[in-house]
Amino acid sequence: MKLYLDPGHGGADPGATGSGLAEKDITLDIALKIRTILVTNYENIEVLMSRSADITKGLAERTNEANSWGADFYMSIHINAFNGTAQGYEDYIHNSLSNDSVTAKYRDLIYAEVIKLNQLIDRGKKKADYHVLRETAMPAMLSENGFIDHPHDAALMKQDSWRQNVAQGHANGIAKAFGLKAKSEVPVPGTIYKVIAGSFKLRANADDRVTFLHSKNIEAFVVTTTISGETWYRVQAGVFSNRSNAEARLQEVHNVGITDAFIMAEPAASSTPSPQPVPTGYAILGPTYLSPEQMNRFAKSVNPNAPELGSYYLTFGEYYGIRGDVAFSQALHETNYFRFTGIVKPEQNNFAGIGATGPSNTGASFKTPEEGVLAHIQHLYAYATTQPLLDKYPQVDPRFHLVKRGSASTWTALNGKWAVPGTTYGQSILSNYEKMINFTKQNLDTILQSL
Ligand SMILES: [Zn+2]
Repeated sequence: MKLYLDPGHGGADPGATGSGLAEKDITLDIALKIRTILVTNYENIEVLMSRSADITKGLAERTNEANSWGADFYMSIHINAFNGTAQGYEDYIHNSLSNDSVTAKYRDLIYAEVIKLNQLIDRGKKKADYHVLRETAMPAMLSENGFIDHPHDAALMKQDSWRQNVAQGHANGIAKAFGLKAKSEVPVPGTIYKVIAGSFKLRANADDRVTFLHSKNIEAFVVTTTISGETWYRVQAGVFSNRSNAEARLQEVHNVGITDAFIMAEPAASSTPSPQPVPTGYAILGPTYLSPEQMNRFAKSVNPNAPELGSYYLTFGEYYGIRGDVAFSQALHETNYFRFTGIVKPEQNNFAGIGATGPSNTGASFKTPEEGVLAHIQHLYAYATTQPLLDKYPQVDPRFHLVKRGSASTWTALNGKWAVPGTTYGQSILSNYEKMINFTKQNLDTILQSL
């Protein structure tokens, strides 16, 4: 089955705007997620996207491309806007089509799956004479996923988990409409994904959490792990060889109110790793052990005005398989604990000194702190692997292609590469990281003593 997937607008055309959001960004994120879900989980699906980055592309260009490619279905993703009072979901097929048409049947199935997951008011199934519905040679559908200028809908749009759910609804519907066959679970070589639904010092608390999850029909059990010589009881709610299955479970766990749950990616070979005193040769690829709060707290212990970037380092680190907490330590080193006392200025959101070589070349700038962290992690990914960049997020590291791919698998191997001459660069990152771990451990000890 050949799916032409069309995130509305892009580049110079932002689409609808409101609530600090632009339609083009949300449609792109949802569409990329749809593609990932379909390609990861189903056999015999090819997806061609009208755009997979923030580029300008005309409507005729899109429909011509779908027509000449011979797509079986055209799915266009949009976000609505009105006057701030309208809200909800609606979708469209061309107004020349009857309710018994093949296109209408596909739409019925997709609509039913989307509406199950999107938490939006149902404005119903509609018809219109839109270009992408009229000029396509194959069945075509356009969905309007909420109103960007309505507070309820816009608040949802800001949540990654909502965009994931909307994508999942579309993917489920397309799979149903076209009878896509699920891939048999093929383990991703080398990586497993654990859903961690809490970490406790006291066994009884972990047992309580397991009991609670069981009461919600979520499988869970306790595993012990050693962090800095101390035993912790971790509640594991499933282990998966497929990342999207782990994400689906994570969503279930979030939905029952456990909002601090997260996915831990691990090399399959070492299923019970424990972060021991940091050796030289510590790999750049690997799990993130510290929580966002633990990272932020450490940064603030030195610089009370440090921005809270821990959650970005965790999210992007886990997605790319990079140790996000060590990358955070690298950022502390590069920015002098976010005090920016070197040549890079705070407004550049460049936490890793990307491209900064001297006073006349102060390096890259990023639109937001989130984008700056994403670039940092992508730059590490370029050094640590020879794999193509994973495509959930756009490539924002402007120097990705200048890196000799796979040329540094450990933090100390960055010496002389990330920092020149930098004979102790990696060692400084790791010794900072050790400080973070010890600081966190002392914090936890203080909490324990006060129990
Ligand atoms: Zn639109």
